[in-house]
Amino acid sequence: MPGRNFLFIPGPTNVPQRVRNAMAIEQEDMRAMDFPKLTLPLFEDVKKIFQTRTGRVFIFPSSGTGGWEAAISNTLSPGDKVLMSHFGHFSWLWVDMCQRHALNVQELEVPWGEGVPVEKYAENLKADRNRDIKAVFVCQNETATGVTSDVAAVRRALDAAGHPALLFVDGVSSVASIDFRMDEWGVDVCVSGSQKGFMLPTGLGIVCVSQKALDARKSAKLHRVFFSFDDMIAGNDNGFFPYTPNTIYLRGLRESVNMLLEEGLPNVFARHRRLATAVRKAVEAWGLKLVAADPKWYSDTVSAIYVPEGFDGNEMVRHAYKFYNIALSVSLGKIAGKAFRIGHLGDLNELMILTPIAAAEMAMKDLGIKVKLGSGVGAAQEYLCSTKVQVRG
Ligand SMILES: *Cc1c(COP(=O)(O)O)cnc(C)c1O
Repeated sequence: MPGRNFLFIPGPTNVPQRVRNAMAIEQEDMRAMDFPKLTLPLFEDVKKIFQTRTGRVFIFPSSGTGGWEAAISNTLSPGDKVLMSHFGHFSWLWVDMCQRHALNVQELEVPWGEGVPVEKYAENLKADRNRDIKAVFVCQNETATGVTSDVAAVRRALDAAGHPALLFVDGVSSVASIDFRMDEWGVDVCVSGSQKGFMLPTGLGIVCVSQKALDARKSAKLHRVFFSFDDMIAGNDNGFFPYTPNTIYLRGLRESVNMLLEEGLPNVFARHRRLATAVRKAVEAWGLKLVAADPKWYSDTVSAIYVPEGFDGNEMVRHAYKFYNIALSVSLGKIAGKAFRIGHLGDLNELMILTPIAAAEMAMKDLGIKVKLGSGVGAAQEYLCSTKVQVRG
């Protein structure tokens, strides 16, 4: 097959050449005396991506789901009441995991297309006079629907109620792409993974933890072994791990964090905003609707786009893969088939983002969806031209 396959799913994302080069290396001794020269500065620099000085970072050889498990098993006890909401595949899966860990989940069901119901959180926290709620959960970016929630507003709700609950954030598809501020927002545990904003293959669960959450582990009774913070701390304090770390991924993470810090986080976030806006301009030009119900929910890392009634968005994704060698992303769960998704996070620039827009137009036309070829591409181009940023010289 000539040419290249294009990947526009919301994780795994494109791995930049610099990172692939950094990973094309020999295996190494994870107990070598100079191994901490890699790990200790890396832990510090990963903290910068979470925008924390006071927190601590753990890097597990797992996916983001392992990070979820690390977060809860180290800080909570069976029967603990936790406040959660779900409005898509991923926010629901974390609820399911908490239930399977015998937590007492107070779950708020929200229509798909909306995000964390901050007012309802505020009411629940105010009403909780006995302080039974031990933790409050936020899925910052629901990848199934392309919805971003307001983490800072949840912190304000906790503060307004004077409530001591821990604040947990799923940042798997937002950290390193959408603004996330661990310290400023008083987040206690934030979970991420390697294969989205960090631009690596799947294989690292990256978890950032506040001092308050670290203290909570002393009384937390859920079982943890592989994901034990204590075991990690005992190794990590000296730059080592309690079991074999994926050293090649750590070398890759070193390079991707270098790239993010060289670009500068504000520029990384602005780039994601701009490329996401270009996609939204295309959707508007097509006359289609986003699953995100209101501009305040729009995600800068993934767009879920409804296809007109009577058409199958997932068939369109399969068609684009089959005929145009591009991976757009299928829709899941409640909206399976009603929409398709374009992942626009990670190592992307202007001309790259025109590709999934062009491909979606061609695939929709082939399937008989009334979309004028070039309409979305043109709208995105207009926007990108009018907001251009110099990249060289
Ligand atoms: C991808 C994703 C996850 C799950 O991560 P895995 O690495 O697949 O385990 C969790 N939450 C969100 C919001 C995600 O996008």
